[in-house]
Amino acid sequence: MPKPAHAPSYYAASAHPQPARPALQHDIQVDVCIIGAGFTGLSAGLHLAEAGFKVAILESALVGWGASGRNGGQIVNSYSRDMDVIARQYGATTAQALGEMAFEGNRIIRERIAQYQIECDLKNGGLFAALTHKQMGLLAAQKALWERYGHTQLEILDQSAIRLAVDTEVYIGGLLDHSAGHIHPLNLALGEAAAFESLGGVIYEQSPVTQIVRGTTSTTTPQVKTATGSVNCNFVIVACNAYIDDLVPELAAKTMPCGSQIIATAPLGELAKQLIPSDYCIEDCNFLLDYYRISTDQRLLYGGGVSYGAKDPAHIESVLLPNLLKTFPQLAGVNIDFAWTGNFSLTLSRLPQMGRLGETIYYSQGCSGHGVTFTHLAGRLLAEAIRGQTQRFDAFAQLPHLPFPGGRHFRVPLTALGAWYYSLRDKLGF
Ligand SMILES: Cc1cc2nc3c(=O)[nH]c(=O)nc-3n(C[C@H](O)[C@H](O)[C@H](O)COP(=O)(O)OP(=O)(O)OC[C@H]3O[C@@H](n4cnc5c(N)ncnc54)[C@H](O)[C@@H]3O)c2cc1C
Repeated sequence: MPKPAHAPSYYAASAHPQPARPALQHDIQVDVCIIGAGFTGLSAGLHLAEAGFKVAILESALVGWGASGRNGGQIVNSYSRDMDVIARQYGATTAQALGEMAFEGNRIIRERIAQYQIECDLKNGGLFAALTHKQMGLLAAQKALWERYGHTQLEILDQSAIRLAVDTEVYIGGLLDHSAGHIHPLNLALGEAAAFESLGGVIYEQSPVTQIVRGTTSTTTPQVKTATGSVNCNFVIVACNAYIDDLVPELAAKTMPCGSQIIATAPLGELAKQLIPSDYCIEDCNFLLDYYRISTDQRLLYGGGVSYGAKDPAHIESVLLPNLLKTFPQLAGVNIDFAWTGNFSLTLSRLPQMGRLGETIYYSQGCSGHGVTFTHLAGRLLAEAIRGQTQRFDAFAQLPHLPFPGGRHFRVPLTALGAWYYSLRDKLGF
């Protein structure tokens, strides 16, 4: 079988060298078997290894091969659903529990980087940029909401202040989250993998899981099978997110894989500092949003576009370059060195899904586009639950996991129709 490769991204081209991680070739016994070596699996594995568990991670392709090694690298706090909607739909107690955890994933990332000395180009500051007065009002409300749950490193920027942070005329203001930031996501994943291995954890790459034989802790324990080996264990964590395919059909049925794309310009030198003098990462407030930042070697990494159902777009550059030039007309004629796509997992509620199947299979999926921080929190909560501390895990697990209307055949056109409606509202400014 040919060795899988990372997506042709700027991140893959600037990744730190890695040790060989052979495929699983025999039958092994561990406490916990994790399926998927993205941020969810790596975070859970590292928390469990720190707590003394014997853990193996099975990965279809390579560490960070999925969304975790391809994303915008934006450390965005909270969830893809606002806290007021959570309070309205699920009650004040749930909102309080989720609100208190809304910035924890960010802190975990920073702890990991510091503790394990992970070189992944961490920079501070993240900006939500408003294109309309309505969006500006929503940002002010979001600031007040987050502050209610104790998250205070937030600042409203007016038009002249945002212009000092990012040199474009398209925004009328924004919300600066001083505690946010950005990273080279693939190098963060690779650094977390090395930290996990330093504590005795083992990662098998090129080891697609073909079957999970479920067990119950009281009678039989589960077994996880690949084509060339198996893992006997007490617990399984499914961390496959948008790449789950048919491995666990009941999990795949409650999410929809969606593609997002990124382009990376050639290095811009001094011009990069003029475009984003603050060096913050930026995302706009549209329903189908654009997100961008400057890399350590002074490229503009510009992302956006959503393909429901995760069909790879034919010409990524032609989808994103017009948006980039609308934001920064001064880049007309710029060379694009990299263009890539990746899949994230969308849920109907836009909230992540975390839970148990029977007594021994745990899962977390569906961060709905904002997963860099949540996946790190998810790893901690999964590890807590396996250690028997379920209170914070249950705050998520008790949320209803609704299937998309239309089932697997019609969920894509129906969701695309909804998105078209909301993006039309953005275009018309209401
Ligand atoms: C282009 C893009 C940009 C994004 N930008 C941002 C951003 O800037 N900020 C943000 O917060 N979020 C962003 N996201 C979302 C974020 O990247 C994801 O939510 C997060 O990385 C999901 O991590 P994960 O570990 O759950 O899944 P993944 O990283 O996708 O990992 C799942 C892994 O499971 C493996 N796998 C699947 N099936 C099997 C199997 N049968 N056997 C073994 N292994 C298997 C896959 O190979 C994969 O490596 C972005 C997503 C994309 C696609």
